[in-house]
Amino acid sequence: MENKISFKDLNLIPPLERALTKQKYTVPTPIQSKSIPGLLQGEDLIGIAQTGTGKTAAFILPILQRMREKYPRKIKTLVITPTRELAAQIGESFSAYGEFLKFKHTVIFGGVGQGKQVRVLSSGVDILVATPGRLLDLMNQGIINLKDVEFFVLDEADRMLDMGFINDVKKIISKLPLKRQSLFFSATMSPEINKLAKTLLKNPIHVEVTPQATTVERIKQCIFFVDPSAKEKLLFELLKQEHLTSVLVFTRTKHKANKLASFLSKNNISADAIHGNKSQNARTKAISDFKTGKTKVLVATDIAARGIDIENISHVINFELPNEPESYVHRIGRTARAGADGTAYSFCAAEERNYLRDIERLIKQKIEVNNHTFHSEIAQNAVGAAAKPAPKNKRQFSRNAKYGDGPKNTQKNKKPFSKNVKSGNRPKRSFRR
Ligand code: AMP
Repeated sequence: MENKISFKDLNLIPPLERALTKQKYTVPTPIQSKSIPGLLQGEDLIGIAQTGTGKTAAFILPILQRMREKYPRKIKTLVITPTRELAAQIGESFSAYGEFLKFKHTVIFGGVGQGKQVRVLSSGVDILVATPGRLLDLMNQGIINLKDVEFFVLDEADRMLDMGFINDVKKIISKLPLKRQSLFFSATMSPEINKLAKTLLKNPIHVEVTPQATTVERIKQCIFFVDPSAKEKLLFELLKQEHLTSVLVFTRTKHKANKLASFLSKNNISADAIHGNKSQNARTKAISDFKTGKTKVLVATDIAARGIDIENISHVINFELPNEPESYVHRIGRTARAGADGTAYSFCAAEERNYLRDIERLIKQKIEVNNHTFHSEIAQNAVGAAAKPAPKNKRQFSRNAKYGDGPKNTQKNKKPFSKNVKSGNRPKRSFRR
């Protein structure tokens, strides 16, 4: 809003201006207008911003402008990001913004064979977008060398920590040349994140955009108090309505995501699930079918949905409330991409009542209550023990199960708890609890 700068004021080179025109971007987002001038001067940056703020263009545009063509091609720009989906999206952004330049980029991530990735790498690339596990793997095999990197971007640093990638990230950083420009993005700040940023950056410019409030304000939010046994029926009733055209449903566990998707499919509502147990191909297909409208409902766990940039999601439905209030903001933010409005419905059973209180405290607003057929007074009025997911054993299980999509087979995951839960727990955030 206070952002009066136009792209012209940012002095971008014509091939980039042309790409922006093609994307129909007219005005830079706040993170873009605050970051691009300093980045063009070669400064390091710490950006507190989440996906949806335009941060990808904020780092890609200046990097593309500062990079010089050199042959044979060597990796001059490295972007690391926690999830495969995010990596793929950043790759797409490099294609879009770099369309009129001659740089070549590639994206690598785990969960798929390395052969094709290795072939592209050996033909020479200027820009590499990678998830940490696969990158380290290929570095260890001597296929990737980072000695020519001039621009380094660490994206979604908080998620990297959450997902147990910190040691991998540190190893990668230790192989980078000292002379480089480094950019560090995180949606949240914590002492741990700060420490990591300090090891990486030299006199960085600080840019913070707080989309939470604005994003949250633009989204119409409703709470549906409902008993757990009636949640599926309620979901089904809601999804029958025509204006729910493209719906992202969140569950806390992979199991529940699968169960819901098959329940909906059986009831003639086209649905698919994405989570960390699905193969990369299955995930890509599910996202693409959802994007094109072939499926109306995508059921996802938090990490699987993290960073997915799908325009035109009409509704987000929290089938289960997240137990970390920040996740609520991330989830509902999926429905108000790039300035669009959206609607978020949240189901709240008695045992989730305290989660709702935490969420309302974080977003500093009371969410409107919807009076529906399955309304539960018990859920609405739950206090004390009834407002928590009570049994201790179960609680511990679900705490771990909620982030069901962490990286597989990382050392961090090999905790006593992982006996209970098949794969991919993320370690707890120590600063939160
Ligand atoms: P990001 O936070 O980088 O994931 O970007 C979120 C969305 O905003 C993406 O769909 C971008 O294509 C879009 N976007 C980025 N910059 C602009 C801009 N200046 N004007 C309009 N849309 C933008």
